[in-house]
Amino acid sequence: MRAATRIAVVGAGLGGLTLAGLLQRRGFDVSVHEQATGFARIGAGIILSANAVKVLRRLGLEPGIVATGIRPDSFLSRDIATGETLYELTLDAASERRFGGPFVNIHRADLHALLQSALRPGTIRFGEGLAGLEERDDHLRLIFADGGTAEADIVVGADGIHSRLRALLQGEAPPRFTGRLAMRAVFPPGRIPGPPIRDCTKWWADDRHVLVYFMTGRRDEVYVMTAVPADSWEGDDTSVPGTRAGFLAGFEDAHPDLRRVLEAAETVMVWPICDRPRDDRWHAGRAVLLGDACHAVRPYMAAGGASAIEDAGVLARCLAEFDDHGTAFARYAATRIPRVAEVQRISIENSWMRGPTELDWFFGHDVCTAPLA
Ligand SMILES: Cc1cc2nc3c(=O)[nH]c(=O)nc-3n(C[C@H](O)[C@H](O)[C@H](O)COP(=O)(O)OP(=O)(O)OC[C@H]3O[C@@H](n4cnc5c(N)ncnc54)[C@H](O)[C@@H]3O)c2cc1C
Repeated sequence: MRAATRIAVVGAGLGGLTLAGLLQRRGFDVSVHEQATGFARIGAGIILSANAVKVLRRLGLEPGIVATGIRPDSFLSRDIATGETLYELTLDAASERRFGGPFVNIHRADLHALLQSALRPGTIRFGEGLAGLEERDDHLRLIFADGGTAEADIVVGADGIHSRLRALLQGEAPPRFTGRLAMRAVFPPGRIPGPPIRDCTKWWADDRHVLVYFMTGRRDEVYVMTAVPADSWEGDDTSVPGTRAGFLAGFEDAHPDLRRVLEAAETVMVWPICDRPRDDRWHAGRAVLLGDACHAVRPYMAAGGASAIEDAGVLARCLAEFDDHGTAFARYAATRIPRVAEVQRISIENSWMRGPTELDWFFGHDVCTAPLA
């Protein structure tokens, strides 16, 4: 596509910011339209696997990510009841050579700040929630909730699981409640009695699991996320305050190494785990979707954000390489859909690294150099 092509990215999440940075580096005229009025430091962590770090490397962000987050010494899987080690992936210089990059666990707000730093000042326009879209002869008109408008040659919906662009293209369809709730707590490790905990552990039972990891290299913030069964959920899918008793419920018989971590929690947030059934309609006309907007997954493989970042890597390549947007979008979707479908399948199964797992196809992949479909 011509470098003068005006590209409007809707949503300043992980995928949208990564795409905007990659497109600016290729000379495109990019604007990012975000409904929020600014970014807040919400207490949540994210695992960036090597395949995602390799994309962010192209934005020059790898040193900052490594310095801000933590490179855990392993990913450890243990049984909730017995404490038995089910699997351990050692993360060290050898694994970084094998996968071509590090694993980094990081606070989302820190990652957002780094992604923003890779953009030209003024690229993100806060308070511009997409409400409508009009097709003109050779361009699009975006209409925002506050009545403002913007014009673009193509629009990218990176607006998450509730994507407005997706609804405008395909009709309204609410996300699917998966029958699990996630509960999250963040606290300093000094609250945990006993010996130091490991860097990154997933505790497994058949119908629930718990993920525990540090979010900084200083090991001063522990992030704990439980996923537990629930018959129903009233309300939308934003998080609401929970109780400590609710957080501990269902883990009465957990192994002492897990109990002492859970009992250290004070403030808890709860939200329903939602996803969407697979839908391969990723583009229409001058509009294209990426990330959770077209493939929201349950967060059991820790790969939703990594997949949005991978989408950005492939879409940026396709827009730069092909002369017309139709070809670029088709090649992007054809390249991404089979890989994302496998992530969706594994996320539903919740089997990733519970035991010995074939990892290289995911962690070792580099979307910036792999052949396009
Ligand atoms: C509990 C939990 C843990 C997770 N852990 C991991 C993990 O460890 N590793 C991992 O890779 N993934 C993880 N994920 C998944 C990951 O968070 C998502 O897949 C990822 O954030 C999706 O990125 P995105 O850019 O598509 O959308 P988002 O990051 O959701 O960004 C969407 C953006 O669009 C904005 N927006 C929405 N509507 C509009 C509108 N109408 N107009 C303008 N802007 C709009 C939003 O405000 C937001 O800023 C986890 C998810 C959950 C729920």
